[in-house]
Amino acid sequence: PIVLFWFRRDLRLSDNAGLYHALTSGFPVLPVFIFDQDILDQFPAGTDRRVEFIHNTLKAMFGVLQALGSSLEVKHGKPLEMLGMLTAQYDVKAVYANHDYEPEAIRRDEQVARFLESKGIAFHTYKDQVVFEKHEVVKDDGTPYRVFGAYRKRWMKKLSDFYLSSYPTEKYQHNFFQTSPIPIIRLEEIGFTQSGEPTFPPTELPKTIIRTYELTRDLPSLAGTSRLGLHLRFGTVSVRALTRQALQLNAVWLGELIWREFFMMILFHFPHVSGRPYNLEYEHMAWLNQEDQFERWCNGTTGYPIVDAGMRELNATGFMHNRVRMIVASFMVKHLLIDYRWGEAYFAGKLLDYDMAANNGNWQWCAGTGCDAAPYFRVFNPETQAKKFDKHQEYIRKWVPELGTPAYPAPMVDHAFARDRALRTYKAALNKA
Ligand code: FAD
Repeated sequence: PIVLFWFRRDLRLSDNAGLYHALTSGFPVLPVFIFDQDILDQFPAGTDRRVEFIHNTLKAMFGVLQALGSSLEVKHGKPLEMLGMLTAQYDVKAVYANHDYEPEAIRRDEQVARFLESKGIAFHTYKDQVVFEKHEVVKDDGTPYRVFGAYRKRWMKKLSDFYLSSYPTEKYQHNFFQTSPIPIIRLEEIGFTQSGEPTFPPTELPKTIIRTYELTRDLPSLAGTSRLGLHLRFGTVSVRALTRQALQLNAVWLGELIWREFFMMILFHFPHVSGRPYNLEYEHMAWLNQEDQFERWCNGTTGYPIVDAGMRELNATGFMHNRVRMIVASFMVKHLLIDYRWGEAYFAGKLLDYDMAANNGNWQWCAGTGCDAAPYFRVFNPETQAKKFDKHQEYIRKWVPELGTPAYPAPMVDHAFARDRALRTYKAALNKA
């Protein structure tokens, strides 16, 4: 008999909680990854850098496992059916995995647990993606926090070495199931092609950048942030290891990791946020939702250089600097009065570091509809923002080279007019609620 370890958002062999428990279970461990057909079917065919990233990572892990005399089962299909196949093919005692907190993932795991149970197979899952999950950082009365500052304080108070120690999977490598290599499914077999684009950011924390993070984090022309979003999303780095480093290097940057957990906690406790405003009073917003305007925002031709630079950076690279994410989101929601869910969906399709909890939480923060949100009456002025954070237009010039020529459009909406219109519309929505 063997046990399976099912990789999901934890694509690494070291310091992996669920994998560690599998390797110390007393049974040989066969690692598994399933390209979920239901998820991939929603992606446009062709290239997808995130699918490519997962595929690259699997190939690298396969190499390591092969050197250990083991292998990796990579499947493409519906998880339940694939697990059905694997449990028919092997004598499986138990399946190990790590917790996943998105509503769909929770539903999937409940189904999987029921299915495995019906076959007498245990399903063991562990916390791995976060330092603190679900009910670990809550108020004294057991209810979840709704304000980041208070959450962060409690998070820090609870933190101890116990929560940050790593899982020494390396010590138990001899417990991987010994088998001849199982060929890895090719990208083309799951409907995608290699993009041939540049490599992904490294998994190492850039220490020099992080030491002075608060000085550089808001300047989009600099490489002033970690660029680890993608790795945190897919678990190619350990959040425990990063938190240990953050404690040494910079409390402000540690705060970013806490924001990440805050929004995961919010999504877990208030799953209605996926699809509806956290604050339901904003369901009555009279969005204008003009498609031609949305298109100009998407393409980066709004006539506001900082907005256009951000959208073009996103379209070209799958990344956008955080300060600029806030500016473009505010512009779309408040200047154009487009439903924040349109922008949220657009980001979801483009961001390499796309994460439902962080994306939703931040969009709702920008739209003023979320928990602990920026108040609706705070309307960013894109020009003032650009002057402050891209003083010498280095970022803007990089992405909007035609600025100052007749090829560049005039602003599509006047700031003072748009600001006033936004304030009236938000106020009216609240009056209706
Ligand atoms: P760093 O500045 O080095 O931060 C380190 C890590 O902390 C990030 O990788 C991320 O995991 C976490 N983090 C930082 N800021 C936030 C935040 N505000 N909320 C939650 N986690 C944070 N982040 C995502 O990971 N996925 C998203 O889909 C996403 N969508 C966003 C949408 C909007 C409208 C806005 C304003 C922000 C969004 N963010 C999202 C947050 C933030 O912009 C990115 O995490 C950050 O820019 C990624 O770059 P980095 O890895 O260099 O981050």
